[in-house]
Amino acid sequence: MVTKVLIANRGEIAVRILRACRDLGLPAVVAYSEADRESMAVKLADESICIGPAEARRSYLNQPAVISAAMITGCDAVHPGYGFLSEDASFAEACGAHDLTFIGPRPEVLERFASKYAVRRMLAANGLPTVPGSNGIVSDLGDALEQAGKAGYPVLLKPSAGGGGRGMRLVRSPREMETSLPLARSEAQAAFGDDSIYFEKWIEESRHVEVQVMVDQHGSGVHLGERDCSIQRRHQKIIEEGPSPAMDDASRERLRDLAIRSVVAAGYESAGTLEFLLDTEGNFFFIEINCRVQVEHPVTEMLTGVDLIVEQIRIAAGDRLSLRQEQIRFRGHAIEFRINAEDPADNFSPQTGEIESLNLPGGPGVRVDTHLYAGYEVPPFYDSLLAKLIVWGETREIALARSRRALAEFEIGGVKTNIPFHRGIIDNDAFLSARVSTNLVDRVGPAAFVGS
Ligand code: ADP
Ligand code: ADP
Ligand code: MG
Repeated sequence: MVTKVLIANRGEIAVRILRACRDLGLPAVVAYSEADRESMAVKLADESICIGPAEARRSYLNQPAVISAAMITGCDAVHPGYGFLSEDASFAEACGAHDLTFIGPRPEVLERFASKYAVRRMLAANGLPTVPGSNGIVSDLGDALEQAGKAGYPVLLKPSAGGGGRGMRLVRSPREMETSLPLARSEAQAAFGDDSIYFEKWIEESRHVEVQVMVDQHGSGVHLGERDCSIQRRHQKIIEEGPSPAMDDASRERLRDLAIRSVVAAGYESAGTLEFLLDTEGNFFFIEINCRVQVEHPVTEMLTGVDLIVEQIRIAAGDRLSLRQEQIRFRGHAIEFRINAEDPADNFSPQTGEIESLNLPGGPGVRVDTHLYAGYEVPPFYDSLLAKLIVWGETREIALARSRRALAEFEIGGVKTNIPFHRGIIDNDAFLSARVSTNLVDRVGPAAFVGS
Protein backbone atom coordinates (compact mmCIF):
# COMPACT_ATOMS: atom_id res chain seq x y z
CA MET A 1 0.00 0.00 0.00
CA VAL A 2 1.08 3.55 -0.71
CA THR A 3 -0.74 6.30 1.21
CA LYS A 4 1.54 9.36 1.01
CA VAL A 5 4.36 10.09 -1.41
CA LEU A 6 7.57 12.09 -1.03
CA ILE A 7 8.59 13.58 -4.38
CA ALA A 8 12.40 13.59 -4.35
CA ASN A 9 13.05 15.59 -7.50
CA ARG A 10 12.62 19.02 -9.02
CA GLY A 11 11.63 20.89 -12.17
CA GLU A 12 8.95 19.68 -14.53
CA ILE A 13 9.05 16.06 -13.32
CA ALA A 14 8.25 17.06 -9.73
CA VAL A 15 5.14 18.83 -11.02
CA ARG A 16 4.27 15.84 -13.21
CA ILE A 17 4.50 13.39 -10.27
CA LEU A 18 2.45 15.73 -8.08
CA ARG A 19 -0.31 15.66 -10.72
CA ALA A 20 -0.29 11.84 -10.80
CA CYS A 21 -0.59 11.74 -7.00
CA ARG A 22 -3.52 14.17 -7.14
CA ASP A 23 -5.27 12.02 -9.74
CA LEU A 24 -4.85 9.01 -7.45
CA GLY A 25 -6.11 10.98 -4.43
CA LEU A 26 -2.72 10.46 -2.75
CA PRO A 27 -1.29 13.20 -0.53
CA ALA A 28 2.21 14.19 -1.65
CA VAL A 29 5.10 16.15 -0.18
CA VAL A 30 7.64 17.97 -2.35
CA ALA A 31 11.27 17.72 -1.15
CA TYR A 32 13.25 20.74 -2.37
CA SER A 33 16.69 22.31 -2.14
CA GLU A 34 17.25 25.87 -0.95
CA ALA A 35 17.59 26.93 -4.60
CA ASP A 36 14.09 25.56 -5.35
CA ARG A 37 12.20 27.19 -2.50
CA GLU A 38 10.20 29.28 -4.99
CA SER A 39 9.64 26.44 -7.44
CA MET A 40 6.32 25.61 -9.09
CA ALA A 41 6.20 22.16 -7.42
CA VAL A 42 6.59 23.75 -3.98
CA LYS A 43 3.90 26.33 -4.78
CA LEU A 44 1.43 23.70 -6.02
CA ALA A 45 2.04 21.19 -3.22
CA ASP A 46 -0.02 21.08 -0.05
CA GLU A 47 3.13 20.19 1.82
CA SER A 48 6.84 20.60 1.15
CA ILE A 49 10.11 20.15 3.01
CA CYS A 50 13.62 21.53 2.50
CA ILE A 51 16.28 18.82 2.20
CA GLY A 52 19.44 20.93 1.97
CA PRO A 53 21.51 23.44 0.00
CA ALA A 54 21.40 24.04 -3.76
CA GLU A 55 24.24 21.65 -4.54
CA ALA A 56 22.57 18.36 -5.57
CA ARG A 57 25.10 16.27 -3.67
CA ARG A 58 23.87 17.90 -0.47
CA SER A 59 20.13 17.80 -1.25
CA TYR A 60 18.61 15.74 -4.10
CA LEU A 61 21.42 13.19 -3.89
CA ASN A 62 21.67 13.23 -0.09
CA GLN A 63 20.09 9.92 0.88
CA PRO A 64 19.83 10.49 4.67
CA ALA A 65 18.23 13.91 4.05
CA VAL A 66 15.64 12.47 1.63
CA ILE A 67 14.80 9.54 3.88
CA SER A 68 14.48 11.72 7.00
CA ALA A 69 12.22 14.09 5.04
CA ALA A 70 9.93 11.20 4.13
CA MET A 71 9.79 9.98 7.72
CA ILE A 72 9.25 13.42 9.29
CA THR A 73 6.33 14.12 6.94
CA GLY A 74 4.69 10.71 7.43
CA CYS A 75 5.22 9.48 3.87
CA ASP A 76 5.36 5.76 3.16
CA ALA A 77 6.69 6.02 -0.39
CA VAL A 78 9.33 7.97 -2.34
CA HIS A 79 9.13 8.86 -6.03
CA PRO A 80 12.64 9.63 -7.32
CA GLY A 81 11.61 10.90 -10.81
CA TYR A 82 14.45 10.63 -13.36
CA GLY A 83 18.15 11.37 -12.82
CA PHE A 84 19.31 11.94 -9.20
CA LEU A 85 18.54 8.83 -7.07
CA SER A 86 16.17 7.18 -9.53
CA GLU A 87 18.40 4.24 -10.49
CA ASP A 88 20.40 3.99 -7.27
CA ALA A 89 20.05 0.49 -5.78
CA SER A 90 21.58 1.55 -2.45
CA PHE A 91 18.94 4.28 -2.11
CA ALA A 92 16.12 1.86 -2.98
CA GLU A 93 17.49 -0.46 -0.32
CA ALA A 94 17.73 2.32 2.27
CA CYS A 95 14.09 3.18 1.55
CA GLY A 96 13.10 -0.42 2.19
CA ALA A 97 15.07 -0.49 5.45
CA HIS A 98 12.94 2.46 6.63
CA ASP A 99 9.65 0.92 5.49
CA LEU A 100 9.38 3.31 2.58
CA THR A 101 8.25 2.05 -0.81
CA PHE A 102 10.71 3.11 -3.52
CA ILE A 103 8.66 3.88 -6.63
CA GLY A 104 10.76 2.00 -9.15
CA PRO A 105 12.24 -1.48 -9.38
CA ARG A 106 13.04 -3.26 -6.10
CA PRO A 107 16.71 -2.88 -5.04
CA GLU A 108 17.76 -6.38 -6.07
CA VAL A 109 16.32 -5.71 -9.55
CA LEU A 110 18.07 -2.33 -9.83
CA GLU A 111 21.30 -3.99 -8.72
CA ARG A 112 21.02 -6.62 -11.44
CA PHE A 113 20.36 -3.98 -14.10
CA ALA A 114 22.97 -1.45 -12.91
CA SER A 115 25.89 -2.25 -15.20
CA LYS A 116 25.24 -1.43 -18.85
CA TYR A 117 27.69 -4.09 -19.92
CA ALA A 118 26.21 -6.84 -17.72
CA VAL A 119 22.68 -6.04 -18.92
CA ARG A 120 23.82 -6.15 -22.52
CA ARG A 121 25.14 -9.66 -21.95
CA MET A 122 22.06 -10.76 -19.97
CA LEU A 123 19.56 -9.55 -22.58
CA ALA A 124 21.63 -10.93 -25.44
CA ALA A 125 21.26 -14.31 -23.74
CA ASN A 126 17.48 -13.72 -23.81
CA GLY A 127 17.47 -13.22 -27.56
CA LEU A 128 18.10 -9.50 -28.07
CA PRO A 129 20.57 -8.55 -30.80
CA THR A 130 23.35 -6.25 -29.47
CA VAL A 131 25.96 -4.12 -31.25
CA PRO A 132 29.17 -6.12 -31.70
CA GLY A 133 31.83 -4.88 -29.30
CA SER A 134 34.20 -5.72 -26.49
CA ASN A 135 33.93 -9.00 -24.74
CA GLY A 136 33.36 -7.60 -21.26
CA ILE A 137 34.81 -4.57 -19.51
CA VAL A 138 38.22 -3.77 -21.01
CA SER A 139 40.91 -4.61 -18.47
CA ASP A 140 43.74 -2.37 -19.72
CA LEU A 141 45.10 -0.62 -22.80
CA GLY A 142 46.61 -3.83 -24.19
CA ASP A 143 43.27 -5.59 -23.91
CA ALA A 144 41.42 -2.65 -25.49
CA LEU A 145 43.85 -2.49 -28.43
CA GLU A 146 43.66 -6.20 -29.03
CA GLN A 147 39.87 -6.36 -28.87
CA ALA A 148 39.29 -3.22 -30.94
CA GLY A 149 41.78 -4.54 -33.51
CA LYS A 150 39.65 -7.66 -33.86
CA ALA A 151 36.30 -5.81 -33.87
CA GLY A 152 37.53 -3.12 -36.27
CA TYR A 153 37.56 0.67 -35.85
CA PRO A 154 35.80 3.03 -35.25
CA VAL A 155 34.52 2.02 -31.82
CA LEU A 156 32.62 3.92 -29.17
CA LEU A 157 34.00 3.76 -25.61
CA LYS A 158 31.19 3.70 -23.04
CA PRO A 159 31.23 3.99 -19.26
CA SER A 160 29.39 0.92 -17.94
CA ALA A 161 27.81 3.03 -15.18
CA GLY A 162 27.01 5.88 -17.60
CA GLY A 163 23.93 7.86 -18.57
CA GLY A 164 22.72 11.22 -19.84
CA GLY A 165 24.96 10.94 -22.92
CA ARG A 166 28.06 11.61 -20.87
CA GLY A 167 31.52 10.11 -21.04
CA MET A 168 31.29 8.31 -24.39
CA ARG A 169 34.25 8.66 -26.77
CA LEU A 170 34.57 7.82 -30.42
CA VAL A 171 37.88 6.10 -31.21
CA ARG A 172 38.99 5.78 -34.83
CA SER A 173 42.45 4.21 -34.55
CA PRO A 174 44.86 2.43 -32.15
CA ARG A 175 46.65 5.75 -31.63
CA GLU A 176 43.37 7.39 -30.55
CA MET A 177 42.72 4.46 -28.23
CA GLU A 178 45.98 5.20 -26.43
CA THR A 179 44.92 8.75 -25.62
CA SER A 180 41.16 8.20 -25.25
CA LEU A 181 40.99 5.19 -22.95
CA PRO A 182 42.70 6.86 -19.95
CA LEU A 183 40.59 10.00 -20.48
CA ALA A 184 37.37 7.98 -20.71
CA ARG A 185 38.31 6.15 -17.52
CA SER A 186 39.01 9.28 -15.49
CA GLU A 187 35.87 11.00 -16.82
CA ALA A 188 33.75 7.98 -15.91
CA GLN A 189 35.30 7.84 -12.45
CA ALA A 190 34.59 11.54 -11.88
CA ALA A 191 31.04 11.46 -13.27
CA PHE A 192 29.77 8.07 -12.08
CA GLY A 193 32.23 6.92 -9.38
CA ASP A 194 33.11 3.88 -11.51
CA ASP A 195 35.78 3.71 -14.22
CA SER A 196 34.61 0.53 -15.99
CA ILE A 197 34.68 1.01 -19.76
CA TYR A 198 33.44 -1.26 -22.55
CA PHE A 199 33.10 -0.52 -26.25
CA GLU A 200 30.73 -1.03 -29.13
CA LYS A 201 31.34 -0.74 -32.82
CA TRP A 202 30.34 2.74 -33.95
CA ILE A 203 27.26 2.61 -36.16
CA GLU A 204 27.75 5.74 -38.22
CA GLU A 205 24.24 6.14 -39.61
CA SER A 206 21.72 5.00 -37.05
CA ARG A 207 18.43 5.99 -35.50
CA HIS A 208 17.59 5.72 -31.81
CA VAL A 209 14.40 3.75 -31.22
CA GLU A 210 13.27 2.72 -27.73
CA VAL A 211 10.48 0.56 -26.34
CA GLN A 212 8.48 1.52 -23.25
CA VAL A 213 7.68 -1.40 -20.96
CA MET A 214 5.73 -1.78 -17.74
CA VAL A 215 6.16 -4.95 -15.68
CA ASP A 216 4.50 -5.74 -12.35
CA GLN A 217 6.00 -7.59 -9.38
CA HIS A 218 4.02 -10.69 -10.33
CA GLY A 219 5.86 -11.23 -13.61
CA SER A 220 3.28 -9.75 -16.00
CA GLY A 221 4.48 -7.18 -18.47
CA VAL A 222 3.24 -5.11 -21.38
CA HIS A 223 4.97 -2.88 -23.91
CA LEU A 224 3.54 0.53 -24.73
CA GLY A 225 5.07 0.92 -28.13
CA GLU A 226 8.22 2.63 -29.30
CA ARG A 227 9.58 6.17 -29.45
CA ASP A 228 12.06 7.44 -32.01
CA CYS A 229 14.64 9.81 -30.49
CA SER A 230 16.98 10.33 -33.42
CA ILE A 231 17.21 14.11 -33.17
CA GLN A 232 20.08 14.41 -30.69
CA ARG A 233 22.93 16.69 -29.84
CA ARG A 234 26.07 15.28 -28.24
CA HIS A 235 24.23 11.98 -27.64
CA GLN A 236 21.39 13.76 -25.82
CA LYS A 237 17.83 13.65 -27.09
CA ILE A 238 16.11 16.89 -28.14
CA ILE A 239 13.08 15.69 -30.11
CA GLU A 240 11.25 12.39 -29.60
CA GLU A 241 8.30 10.99 -31.50
CA GLY A 242 6.12 7.93 -31.79
CA PRO A 243 5.46 5.72 -33.58
CA SER A 244 8.89 5.60 -35.25
CA PRO A 245 8.49 7.05 -38.75
CA ALA A 246 11.38 4.86 -39.91
CA MET A 247 9.89 1.43 -39.23
CA ASP A 248 7.23 -0.60 -40.97
CA ASP A 249 4.52 -2.32 -38.97
CA ALA A 250 6.11 -5.75 -39.18
CA SER A 251 9.51 -4.69 -37.79
CA ARG A 252 7.81 -2.46 -35.22
CA GLU A 253 5.86 -5.45 -33.93
CA ARG A 254 8.96 -7.62 -33.87
CA LEU A 255 10.93 -5.03 -31.88
CA ARG A 256 8.16 -4.41 -29.35
CA ASP A 257 7.58 -8.11 -28.86
CA LEU A 258 11.26 -9.03 -28.48
CA ALA A 259 11.78 -6.17 -26.00
CA ILE A 260 8.97 -7.10 -23.65
CA ARG A 261 9.68 -10.82 -23.79
CA SER A 262 13.38 -10.40 -23.03
CA VAL A 263 12.92 -8.12 -20.01
CA VAL A 264 10.16 -10.21 -18.47
CA ALA A 265 12.42 -13.25 -18.87
CA ALA A 266 15.27 -11.33 -17.20
CA GLY A 267 13.07 -10.50 -14.21
CA TYR A 268 12.77 -6.75 -14.74
CA GLU A 269 9.95 -4.85 -13.00
CA SER A 270 8.42 -1.34 -12.96
CA ALA A 271 8.41 1.19 -15.78
CA GLY A 272 11.45 0.88 -18.00
CA THR A 273 12.78 1.67 -21.44
CA LEU A 274 14.88 -0.51 -23.70
CA GLU A 275 16.97 1.57 -26.07
CA PHE A 276 18.03 0.34 -29.52
CA LEU A 277 19.94 1.60 -32.52
CA LEU A 278 18.36 1.01 -35.91
CA ASP A 279 20.83 0.81 -38.80
CA THR A 280 20.20 1.81 -42.41
CA GLU A 281 19.32 -1.79 -43.33
CA GLY A 282 16.58 -1.91 -40.70
CA ASN A 283 18.51 -4.10 -38.23
CA PHE A 284 18.10 -3.15 -34.60
CA PHE A 285 20.60 -3.56 -31.79
CA PHE A 286 19.95 -3.23 -28.06
CA ILE A 287 22.15 -0.62 -26.32
CA GLU A 288 20.77 -0.13 -22.80
CA ILE A 289 17.80 -0.13 -20.45
CA ASN A 290 16.74 2.85 -18.34
CA CYS A 291 15.20 1.61 -15.09
CA ARG A 292 12.97 4.63 -14.50
CA VAL A 293 10.41 6.88 -16.08
CA GLN A 294 11.96 8.87 -18.93
CA VAL A 295 11.89 12.50 -19.89
CA GLU A 296 9.96 11.61 -23.05
CA HIS A 297 7.31 9.38 -21.40
CA PRO A 298 4.47 11.82 -22.39
CA VAL A 299 4.87 10.80 -26.06
CA THR A 300 3.63 7.35 -25.06
CA GLU A 301 0.90 8.80 -22.85
CA MET A 302 -0.45 10.81 -25.78
CA LEU A 303 -0.48 7.72 -28.02
CA THR A 304 -2.02 5.27 -25.57
CA GLY A 305 -3.95 7.36 -23.02
CA VAL A 306 -2.16 5.42 -20.25
CA ASP A 307 -0.82 7.50 -17.32
CA LEU A 308 2.64 5.96 -16.91
CA ILE A 309 3.37 7.58 -13.54
CA VAL A 310 0.07 6.38 -12.09
CA GLU A 311 0.79 2.84 -13.33
CA GLN A 312 4.33 3.01 -11.94
CA ILE A 313 3.04 4.01 -8.47
CA ARG A 314 0.47 1.20 -8.48
CA ILE A 315 3.03 -1.40 -9.48
CA ALA A 316 5.46 -0.26 -6.77
CA ALA A 317 2.63 -0.71 -4.26
CA GLY A 318 2.46 -4.36 -5.37
CA ASP A 319 -0.69 -4.11 -7.49
CA ARG A 320 -1.11 -6.19 -10.58
CA LEU A 321 -0.92 -4.45 -13.96
CA SER A 322 -4.31 -2.99 -14.73
CA LEU A 323 -3.79 -3.45 -18.47
CA ARG A 324 -3.45 -6.41 -20.75
CA GLN A 325 -1.47 -6.08 -23.96
CA GLU A 326 -4.54 -6.33 -26.18
CA GLN A 327 -6.21 -3.48 -24.29
CA ILE A 328 -3.43 -1.05 -25.17
CA ARG A 329 -4.42 0.81 -28.31
CA PHE A 330 -2.17 3.16 -30.22
CA ARG A 331 -3.72 6.17 -31.83
CA GLY A 332 -2.17 8.84 -34.05
CA HIS A 333 1.27 10.39 -33.83
CA ALA A 334 2.96 12.35 -31.02
CA ILE A 335 6.11 14.51 -30.98
CA GLU A 336 7.94 15.98 -27.97
CA PHE A 337 10.27 18.99 -28.11
CA ARG A 338 12.62 19.54 -25.18
CA ILE A 339 12.75 23.26 -24.47
CA ASN A 340 16.09 23.99 -22.81
CA ALA A 341 17.62 27.15 -21.34
CA GLU A 342 20.49 27.36 -23.81
CA ASP A 343 21.70 29.92 -26.33
CA PRO A 344 21.51 28.62 -29.91
CA ALA A 345 23.77 31.45 -31.05
CA ASP A 346 26.51 30.51 -28.57
CA ASN A 347 26.97 26.79 -29.12
CA PHE A 348 23.90 26.12 -26.95
CA SER A 349 25.63 27.21 -23.74
CA PRO A 350 23.40 26.89 -20.63
CA GLN A 351 21.51 30.03 -19.59
CA THR A 352 20.09 31.20 -16.28
CA GLY A 353 18.09 34.20 -15.16
CA GLU A 354 14.56 35.41 -14.61
CA ILE A 355 11.61 34.37 -16.76
CA GLU A 356 10.29 37.85 -17.51
CA SER A 357 7.35 36.77 -19.62
CA LEU A 358 5.77 33.52 -20.65
CA ASN A 359 3.26 32.52 -23.28
CA LEU A 360 2.48 28.82 -23.36
CA PRO A 361 0.93 27.33 -26.50
CA GLY A 362 -2.42 25.55 -26.38
CA GLY A 363 -5.22 24.38 -28.61
CA PRO A 364 -6.03 20.96 -30.08
CA GLY A 365 -3.41 18.27 -29.55
CA VAL A 366 -1.04 20.39 -27.44
CA ARG A 367 0.34 19.51 -23.98
CA VAL A 368 3.03 21.43 -22.12
CA ASP A 369 4.80 19.95 -19.08
CA THR A 370 6.75 22.70 -17.35
CA HIS A 371 7.65 24.22 -14.01
CA LEU A 372 7.97 27.74 -15.41
CA TYR A 373 5.93 30.78 -14.41
CA ALA A 374 6.49 34.47 -15.11
CA GLY A 375 8.89 35.80 -12.49
CA TYR A 376 10.56 32.42 -11.89
CA GLU A 377 14.33 32.52 -11.56
CA VAL A 378 16.08 29.67 -13.46
CA PRO A 379 18.83 28.50 -11.07
CA PRO A 380 22.32 27.65 -12.38
CA PHE A 381 22.72 24.41 -10.41
CA TYR A 382 20.73 21.86 -12.38
CA ASP A 383 20.10 20.71 -15.93
CA SER A 384 18.72 23.09 -18.48
CA LEU A 385 15.31 21.51 -19.23
CA LEU A 386 12.61 24.21 -18.92
CA ALA A 387 9.61 22.65 -20.57
CA LYS A 388 8.42 19.87 -22.80
CA LEU A 389 6.04 20.58 -25.64
CA ILE A 390 4.16 17.46 -26.65
CA VAL A 391 1.95 17.55 -29.71
CA TRP A 392 -0.50 14.93 -30.94
CA GLY A 393 -2.24 14.50 -34.28
CA GLU A 394 -4.17 11.78 -36.09
CA THR A 395 -1.24 11.52 -38.55
CA ARG A 396 2.42 12.63 -38.50
CA GLU A 397 1.58 15.42 -40.94
CA ILE A 398 -1.12 16.79 -38.66
CA ALA A 399 1.17 16.50 -35.62
CA LEU A 400 3.89 18.41 -37.53
CA ALA A 401 1.48 21.17 -38.55
CA ARG A 402 0.28 21.53 -34.98
CA SER A 403 3.90 21.54 -33.76
CA ARG A 404 4.70 24.39 -36.13
CA ARG A 405 1.72 26.32 -34.80
CA ALA A 406 2.57 25.60 -31.13
CA LEU A 407 6.26 26.50 -31.54
CA ALA A 408 5.25 29.80 -33.13
CA GLU A 409 3.05 30.60 -30.12
CA PHE A 410 5.63 29.54 -27.51
CA GLU A 411 7.37 32.63 -26.06
CA ILE A 412 9.77 32.65 -23.14
CA GLY A 413 11.11 36.11 -22.29
CA GLY A 414 14.22 36.91 -20.23
CA VAL A 415 16.21 33.72 -20.80
CA LYS A 416 17.52 32.41 -24.11
CA THR A 417 16.12 29.04 -25.14
CA ASN A 418 16.43 26.53 -27.97
CA ILE A 419 12.93 27.36 -29.30
CA PRO A 420 14.51 28.96 -32.43
CA PHE A 421 16.32 25.66 -33.07
CA HIS A 422 13.03 23.75 -32.90
CA ARG A 423 11.34 26.25 -35.22
CA GLY A 424 14.13 25.64 -37.69
CA ILE A 425 14.20 21.88 -37.51
CA ILE A 426 10.43 21.59 -37.94
CA ASP A 427 10.96 22.85 -41.52
CA ASN A 428 14.05 20.78 -42.21
CA ASP A 429 13.61 18.35 -45.12
CA ALA A 430 15.54 15.50 -43.48
CA PHE A 431 13.41 15.73 -40.35
CA LEU A 432 10.15 16.08 -42.28
CA SER A 433 10.88 13.02 -44.38
CA ALA A 434 12.31 11.06 -41.41
CA ARG A 435 15.74 10.63 -42.96
CA VAL A 436 17.82 11.69 -39.95
CA SER A 437 20.44 9.81 -37.98
CA THR A 438 21.52 10.51 -34.40
CA ASN A 439 24.67 12.35 -35.50
CA LEU A 440 22.95 14.71 -37.96
CA VAL A 441 22.79 17.80 -35.74
CA ASP A 442 26.40 17.45 -34.55
CA ARG A 443 27.65 16.80 -38.08
CA VAL A 444 25.90 19.73 -39.72
CA GLY A 445 26.23 21.99 -36.67
CA PRO A 446 23.21 23.11 -34.64
CA ALA A 447 23.40 26.65 -36.04
CA ALA A 448 22.30 25.35 -39.44
CA PHE A 449 18.87 24.56 -38.03
CA VAL A 450 18.17 27.76 -36.16
CA GLY A 451 15.02 29.41 -37.46
CA SER A 452 13.44 32.67 -36.39
P1 ADP B 1 15.96 10.05 -20.97
O1 ADP B 1 16.96 8.93 -20.91
O2 ADP B 1 15.02 10.08 -19.86
O3 ADP B 1 15.36 10.16 -22.28
P2 ADP B 1 18.23 11.72 -20.76
O4 ADP B 1 19.03 10.51 -20.90
O5 ADP B 1 18.51 12.87 -21.65
O6 ADP B 1 16.70 11.42 -20.87
O7 ADP B 1 18.29 12.26 -19.28
C1 ADP B 1 17.98 11.42 -18.24
C2 ADP B 1 18.47 12.00 -16.97
O8 ADP B 1 19.84 12.31 -17.07
C3 ADP B 1 17.77 13.29 -16.61
O9 ADP B 1 17.59 13.29 -15.23
C4 ADP B 1 18.73 14.35 -16.95
O10 ADP B 1 18.60 15.41 -16.04
C5 ADP B 1 20.03 13.66 -16.74
N1 ADP B 1 20.97 14.24 -17.67
C6 ADP B 1 20.81 14.41 -18.98
N2 ADP B 1 21.86 15.02 -19.51
C7 ADP B 1 22.74 15.23 -18.52
C8 ADP B 1 24.03 15.83 -18.42
N3 ADP B 1 24.65 16.35 -19.49
N4 ADP B 1 24.61 15.87 -17.23
C9 ADP B 1 24.01 15.37 -16.16
N5 ADP B 1 22.80 14.78 -16.18
C10 ADP B 1 22.17 14.73 -17.34
P1 ADP C 1 23.51 6.92 -22.25
O1 ADP C 1 23.53 5.86 -21.18
O2 ADP C 1 24.42 8.03 -21.97
O3 ADP C 1 22.10 7.32 -22.59
P2 ADP C 1 23.51 5.22 -24.64
O4 ADP C 1 24.28 3.95 -24.65
O5 ADP C 1 22.05 5.13 -24.45
O6 ADP C 1 24.14 6.20 -23.53
O7 ADP C 1 23.80 6.03 -25.98
C1 ADP C 1 23.36 7.35 -26.15
C2 ADP C 1 23.40 7.76 -27.61
O8 ADP C 1 24.72 7.60 -28.16
C3 ADP C 1 22.53 6.92 -28.54
O9 ADP C 1 21.20 7.37 -28.56
C4 ADP C 1 23.23 7.12 -29.88
O10 ADP C 1 22.93 8.39 -30.42
C5 ADP C 1 24.68 7.13 -29.50
N1 ADP C 1 25.26 5.77 -29.54
C6 ADP C 1 25.30 4.87 -28.54
N2 ADP C 1 25.91 3.72 -28.94
C7 ADP C 1 26.26 3.90 -30.23
C8 ADP C 1 26.92 3.09 -31.22
N3 ADP C 1 27.37 1.85 -30.94
N4 ADP C 1 27.11 3.62 -32.46
C9 ADP C 1 26.68 4.86 -32.75
N5 ADP C 1 26.06 5.67 -31.89
C10 ADP C 1 25.84 5.21 -30.62
MG1 MG D 1 20.60 6.06 -23.29
